[in-house]
Parts: sequence; structure tokens; C-alpha cells
Amino acid sequence: MSSIFAKALLAAALLLTSLASVSASPVATASHPDLAQIKGAIQHVLRGNDSFVKGRAASSFAARIAGQHPTATVVSCSDSRVQAEAIDQDPEGDLFMVREIGNQMASGEGSVEYGVRHLHTPLLLIVGHSSCGAVKAAMGNYTDLEPAIKRELDTLKVTKGSADDAQAVKRSVEQNVNEQVTFALKKFAPEVKDGKLAVLGAVYDFRNDYGQGHGRLVFVNVNGTTDPTQITRLLRSYRR
Ligand SMILES: [Zn+2]
Repeated sequence: MSSIFAKALLAAALLLTSLASVSASPVATASHPDLAQIKGAIQHVLRGNDSFVKGRAASSFAARIAGQHPTATVVSCSDSRVQAEAIDQDPEGDLFMVREIGNQMASGEGSVEYGVRHLHTPLLLIVGHSSCGAVKAAMGNYTDLEPAIKRELDTLKVTKGSADDAQAVKRSVEQNVNEQVTFALKKFAPEVKDGKLAVLGAVYDFRNDYGQGHGRLVFVNVNGTTDPTQITRLLRSYRR
């Protein structure tokens, strides 16, 4: 976590340096709306990290410095509405997070493999979410998008249709989660077979499309099982 903040601070410093030179130009003044937005975003990061540092005893980092032993590798969408705290109130040290648009395995395959095969997390959790923009884009014609974005969308499994159709989006989000679980089950077949790894697929449902409450993590796939009754039974056994 600390390296993330270090990177953020470095990025902020670089931006401030560039802003200083940019603001000297007659066009880009301090009142330029884009510059004001950048300044606001940097302030947000700086103040956020100030609060974080003030709120933490230095000793609380001791365990973090020693190493990491996460309980789960999580593949989730980069979407800002999806955060680790939705599935773990205190995710630091618990969750090895791999994030990219559309919560797909292909772009982050090496990172996922590191979590499973080097950090030995017993759980690989793939999390889709309500109103996923990547899924919506993949449901339509995205051939005009930038090549790098297009490549990532190409790995999503969705049904073509209208992104305005909430039920169709819900189905495609679920379909894509199942596709990514299938990918993971093939890749990590030895670990799953040996009982060292469970691969679960879920949808973070902040729209309450599934009627289980806003923000519920709805499991749609447990090691390839997609039957809701079986999943309910399996999850009940895990709760005991
Ligand atoms: Zn998304």
C-alpha cells in the first residue's frame, strides 16, 4: 500500500512541476478549468495520504514490512465504484487485488498467477459488477476504440445487445464472470484438483438487480457450478 502512495506522491510532484511550467504560458492560466481539476485531484490525494499517515501508528506497518500472506486473489473491474472494502472491511494484507476493465483474466494473467502460485492464496475470486461500462461497451460495436482498450474488451464474453437494457447488461455481466471462471479453472486445474484452490465468481450488485440488497456480493459460480440452488447450499456449508 505504501508503494502506491509513494507512486501517487511522485506522480503529484511531477504534475506540479509540469503545471508550474504550463501555467507560465499565456493560454493555460491558474483559472483554466482543466488545471483546476488537476489541482483538485492532486489535493485530494495529498490530503487523503495526510489523513492516512496521521491515523496510523508507525508500529501498525511492522507486519506489512515483514511480508504479505493474503487470503484471496481477487480479479475485479477497475471501476471506481468497486472497492475492496465491499468484500472485506479491512482488506489490507488480506486481498491480492488484480484490477482491469471488465474483470478479465487475460490482461492480468501473470498477476493472478503470482497470487495463486507464489502467494498461495486458497481462493481466487472473480468479481463482476452492476452497470459495468466495459461489459456495456463489449455488448456493442467497439471497433473504433483505441487498440489497447479494444484488446482488453476482446477477452470479455458477452451477448451483443443494447447497453440500455438493464436485464441484458446483468446477464452479460454474469456471463462474463462465468467465462473468466472457466478460464481460471483451466489454468489452475492442478491446484483445484488437489483441493488447494477454490475459484469463485460473483457479481457486486450495487443496483440490487438480484434483490438481495444494494451492495450484496452475489455468487454465481463456485468451481464451475452455476446452479443457484447448489451454490446456496455450498455457501451455507462455508458459513458454518
Ligand atoms: Zn466494470
